[in-house]
Amino acid sequence: MAADPKPIHRLEESLINRIAAGEIIHRPANALKELLENALDAGATTIKISVKDGGLKLLQIVDNGSGIRKADLPLLAARFCTSKLSTFSDLSKIQTYGFRGEALASISHVAHLSVVTKTREESCAWKASYSDGVLAPSKPGATEEPKPTAGNDGTTITVEDLFYNTPLRLRALKSPSDEYSRILDVVQRYAIHNPTVSFLCKKAGSNTADVTTPSSGTVKSAIKTIYGPSVAKELLEAKAEAGKKDDFEWEAEVWFTSANYHVKKPTFLLFINHRSVDSVRVRRAVEAVYNGILPKGTFGFIYLSLVIDPSKVDVNVHPTKREVHFLEEERITEHVADAMQTVLAANDQSRSFQYQT
Ligand code: ADP
Ligand code: MG
Repeated sequence: MAADPKPIHRLEESLINRIAAGEIIHRPANALKELLENALDAGATTIKISVKDGGLKLLQIVDNGSGIRKADLPLLAARFCTSKLSTFSDLSKIQTYGFRGEALASISHVAHLSVVTKTREESCAWKASYSDGVLAPSKPGATEEPKPTAGNDGTTITVEDLFYNTPLRLRALKSPSDEYSRILDVVQRYAIHNPTVSFLCKKAGSNTADVTTPSSGTVKSAIKTIYGPSVAKELLEAKAEAGKKDDFEWEAEVWFTSANYHVKKPTFLLFINHRSVDSVRVRRAVEAVYNGILPKGTFGFIYLSLVIDPSKVDVNVHPTKREVHFLEEERITEHVADAMQTVLAANDQSRSFQYQT
């Protein structure tokens, strides 16, 4: 027998927001990625991250970027409030990581969020706390108004007790050390791709940094700092760009290891228009250059940065912006793989030449 239909009712606003937030912030590493991107969007040259319990207890990012005007603080964590996008046509030429004004709002629905920020013009910093998208008292009985405080130019964002109000999500994230390695992975990717920004990531209270890079590096030197000399000494560079047949601009920069380097665990760092993303199709296409060159079941290291006419890229296909679609994907990746193959072959030839003489 069919069940009786149940009445349809509207979900409570706070529940709607919490569910929506969970689609954007799955785990501490997603939150961190959003915060890092905000710091980079703000022009920071130094970014320091501290983490407690894999980011579930504490995630703090200190940047020396533009800071946030005091007048903008009330809207900081409001959904769809952004300083980066105004019109629909802006979306096709977006130059910043952010544009939807959803990250801080989402975080404020599933964690305790606070900010200390100072612009170059202001004589003191301002501290504010947020809950469910709006300014909130930092402790019971306090006012919600931003408070003047001492602070350096730039912004410090503190996220505490992530998922405190979504116990199921919290329970699913069993291992703080696993969450911490995901955080490190995000920091390493951005540190390599932004070698003129100094990154530091450590566990709160620890004296040793797990990632640390200078602000005066190159992609190659950052790869060396982070992945070590065994990768660095085998690095090859390939470049590719749009040809006559292409009807839009694109270019690719690849740093990848030669046939002398192979490990069990693949490293594939993909950036599309400077955003760290994943694409199984692009990965397969470029990893295929090692077919028949590396022992079966082993992989090389590949860093690929693709810059494509922004109007041909759709970054809005996925709530976490993790997946990105672009036009002519197959042809572009094939072209990139060809360029890598040419460099590999030339390298191989110079090697065998060295052996002969
Ligand atoms: P989006 O990045 O999509 O605009 P966010 O929720 O991530 O949305 O941030 C909202 C706004 O807060 C940004 O548009 C920016 O103006 C400001 N903001 C956030 N983080 C920083 C930061 N670290 N430095 C300066 N401004 C920031
Ligand atoms: Mg953002």
